Amino acid sequence: MIKKFDSPIFVTKPALPPLEEYTELLKQIWDTKVLTNNGPFHQQFEKALSEYLGIRYISLFSNGTLALITALQALRITGEVITTPFSFVATTHSLWWNNIKPVFADIEPVTFNLDPEKVEAAITPQTTAIMPVHVYGNPCNIEQFQHLADTYGLKLIYDAAHAFGVKINDESVLNFGDLSVLSFHATKVFNTIEGGAIICHDEKTKHRIDYLKNFGFADETTVIAPGINAKMNELQCAYGLLQLKYVDDYIEKRKSLSALYQKLLKETEGIRCLSEMNGVRHAYSYFPILVDKDKFGISRDDLYEKLKAHNIYGRRYFYPLISQFPSYRGLPSARKDNLPIAEKVADQVICLPIFPELTHENVNDICDIIKDK
Ligand SMILES: *Cc1c(COP(=O)(O)O)cnc(C)c1O
Repeated sequence: MIKKFDSPIFVTKPALPPLEEYTELLKQIWDTKVLTNNGPFHQQFEKALSEYLGIRYISLFSNGTLALITALQALRITGEVITTPFSFVATTHSLWWNNIKPVFADIEPVTFNLDPEKVEAAITPQTTAIMPVHVYGNPCNIEQFQHLADTYGLKLIYDAAHAFGVKINDESVLNFGDLSVLSFHATKVFNTIEGGAIICHDEKTKHRIDYLKNFGFADETTVIAPGINAKMNELQCAYGLLQLKYVDDYIEKRKSLSALYQKLLKETEGIRCLSEMNGVRHAYSYFPILVDKDKFGISRDDLYEKLKAHNIYGRRYFYPLISQFPSYRGLPSARKDNLPIAEKVADQVICLPIFPELTHENVNDICDIIKDK
């Protein structure tokens, strides 16, 4: 019997910048008393993020969900939007908050991303947009989605909440589609405590997004639409600026933990890890494994409980599927026979702990517990 961990190990633990560096910036805020509304740190942070990510236009938000909701508003999306059931529930909620009917299509068996062929089959005259998710930061089939969007005249909005810093052949994954949305929630690779952003590709769209996140104000007396209040404040922007200095280090640490998990679990019968993709710079936001009960001997849920008994708290991302929640399960596209691959993956997946502070020794111990029968 392997010893259990003395203190709990959760699936993630946020990385924070050095406190001394942050208090220096807080002093500046206390001096100027500029707390929010596109202040100096906000402007600096947008500029620094654009440079780091290799993108042209970014608008900061108070969280990723409001950024998703606003992205749909910015493009005036209505009717039906085709999306994935295999995501965090906010992806579909953003449609609901816009009075849009979600249409679920199945995922691909290798990446667990929305399958473009299934999307094409789900298009109706009411379809106005596609909302795929780069699940675990693994890029979607970008070419095929663009082809569908062009062919059928649809907008393409990526939920890129897991894809901070992800690149394909040196190009940011955020540069594809009409808009991409990031989340900077505490649990993500890059956090501003809470936070999010929309990435767009022209100045006019950026202005519209910036107005919409500030009640619709274009200037003191012009309100262009019923906007929301979703601005990021100066304390978070200053914190985010510091995080940017350390994020490469965070990603490097995640990369080495991910490589160790791969090495230790590679030969374990009934456990499947996701492989890295060719030409992709990953951010290692999650470490999912699939448990095949017949080959591994115990089910995903049994493994989940066993890890818990050893003080290790994996998460079943994503289970249940969004399509199984009461708000959505009545939709025709939510039927289980429409989503066989998503259903199967949701029943087998568990995300193991991965965060910069986790040690190689921790990963060794976690894998010993998984393999000990
Ligand atoms: C975290 C997350 C969101 C929501 O972001 P918040 O900043 O927490 O509102 C949306 N979509 C996905 C896929 C996420 O993982």
